[in-house]
Amino acid sequence: MNTDSALLNTLLEISEDAIIVSDECCRVLRVNPTFNKCTGLDAKEVKGRILVQHDSSSREEPLLETVEKPYGKGSSWTGLIHIRKKDGTVFTANGDILTVNDGQGNPIRHIAVLRPGTSPEGHPNDKGSRQLDPLTNLPNRFLLDDRLEQALIVSRRIKKSVALFTIGLDRFITVNDGLGFAIGDMVLKKMGERLQEASRRSDTIARLSGDIFSLVMAVTSDNDTVLLAEKILKIISEPFFVVEGNEVIMTASIGISIFPADGEDAASLLKRSESAMRHAKKTGGKKYQFFAGEMNTRAKHRIETENNIRHALEQNEFLLYYQPKIDTKNEAIIGAEALIRWNNPARGLIPPGEFIPIAEESGLILQVGAWVLRRACKQCKDWLDEGLKPIRISINVASHQLRSSDFADQVIAALKETGIPPNLLELEITESNMMDNSIACMKVLQTFRDRGIHISIDDFGTGYSCLSYLSRFPITTLKIDRAFVNNLQDSNNAEVTRAIISLSHSLKLDVIAEGAEVADQVKFLGIHGCTVVQGFFYSKPVSAEVFEKMLRVGYIRKG
Ligand code: C2E
Ligand code: MG
Ligand code: MG
Repeated sequence: MNTDSALLNTLLEISEDAIIVSDECCRVLRVNPTFNKCTGLDAKEVKGRILVQHDSSSREEPLLETVEKPYGKGSSWTGLIHIRKKDGTVFTANGDILTVNDGQGNPIRHIAVLRPGTSPEGHPNDKGSRQLDPLTNLPNRFLLDDRLEQALIVSRRIKKSVALFTIGLDRFITVNDGLGFAIGDMVLKKMGERLQEASRRSDTIARLSGDIFSLVMAVTSDNDTVLLAEKILKIISEPFFVVEGNEVIMTASIGISIFPADGEDAASLLKRSESAMRHAKKTGGKKYQFFAGEMNTRAKHRIETENNIRHALEQNEFLLYYQPKIDTKNEAIIGAEALIRWNNPARGLIPPGEFIPIAEESGLILQVGAWVLRRACKQCKDWLDEGLKPIRISINVASHQLRSSDFADQVIAALKETGIPPNLLELEITESNMMDNSIACMKVLQTFRDRGIHISIDDFGTGYSCLSYLSRFPITTLKIDRAFVNNLQDSNNAEVTRAIISLSHSLKLDVIAEGAEVADQVKFLGIHGCTVVQGFFYSKPVSAEVFEKMLRVGYIRKG
């Protein structure tokens, strides 16, 4: 090592500034120990990442975010810099980004130097007490603005939404007036604690003023927001035991604005969520209100459907349809998939796509799924008792069910109660559900396999299974997703279908194709070694009565 590089190493080691060195293309080469201390990120985790965004078309998330003005490659730059730390929070400091040129003026290195303790939040060690609300210890309005700005910067980059909640207590004045300020303060403190309890670690909760709180969350789907709003309303309305014998029940009104739909900057988002909150209060409180009307309609629809599902369970409005699975070699019915339908008195037969996702989000799928399991097993038993040919019935299992601790017991109980042989039951689990619950899933599926229950991966090909992992799951069947089967004229789909069939052969698994609608598709599948098919070509899902008639015949002649 020459003297210069030894000197450079020492400077990097001892510097109290966080230093990042990148190559001429702005790819990170090395960082110093202070950088590691400030962000929790080590050299391995950041090496090769792009230092700053200098090409607006790039979708790569840079290591540093510069706010006031962009860093122009080749220039030197001073200003406020943000870095997302390893724990997901943001480290902010003032700093410089410099370009080192060679003798001809060509850039050879870019260096970022950040000075810890120089952000408007103050030194990291003084915990920014200036910006914490003394009563609740939550961020105050000033800090909220800052956090919201930071969330918007990140969200703009990764093209995600942010929800801003303004949460106001209903009739808080009656607590203050009736029970005194001390109790009022205690309620506000507890309210802050409850909000923290209801939210995720990555959300920011702040107290804006009086009885008004704010929450900032990164959003992946509309339902994230609705679920959190419902959770907050629920948790707040639990009684507060402020002092012995003094129970206080509070309710809240929540206004929600969404970035970018309701505003591009912090100020307009705050204004709009406050206005939505006032509207919620004016119309009786104890509710949440989106700034955008369309979101309210969707949220309302969701709540209505949820209540209707509860009602449907009580009133026995669900029923199962059956779609035959056919052995294409002799066109015999060898099984059926049980598919739920909702016989709604007002609307007629509702397909699962309209209510299963809502049942899944609300957790009601546990009850719906338990009903499906029992009903399918009972139907299988009835057909056996009638002397019909034994066929395997498959049911769809949702992610919630897989995670529920008593799912295995439920399945075993259903088999025991009906007395059907376990190998006549098949559980269809989608690829993503299986992967999401991989560890828990592996164990419970093994219990099922040990008893002889069949397990298939539904919609195979649409998820991102790790193939080596797949071979370790105790499964029996791959079910090729209908998106491939239905579009075999597309050479990519045909190729994927062929690959899945050959994968199933090499893993010694059964394979079934879902969604075959025309003879050519069935022919293609047969030629490539998939001779079990479920699709409209043979039959749509039909009622139990119609299916029973099909089963009496035993096959569906098409050839
Ligand atoms: P899935 O499990 O992949 O079920 C197959 C779906 O494909 C069924 O739609 C079926 O009608 C449809 N299908 C079958 N062959 C063809 C075809 O040739 N062409 C076309 N266009 N479609 C075909 P369905 O009954 O509307 O069910 C949709 C989804 O709802 C199911 O997809 C499943 O994910 C879910 N589902 C249905 N019943 C239940 C249930 O009891 N529990 C749970 N958790 N989910 C269910
Ligand atoms: Mg299925
Ligand atoms: Mg499927």
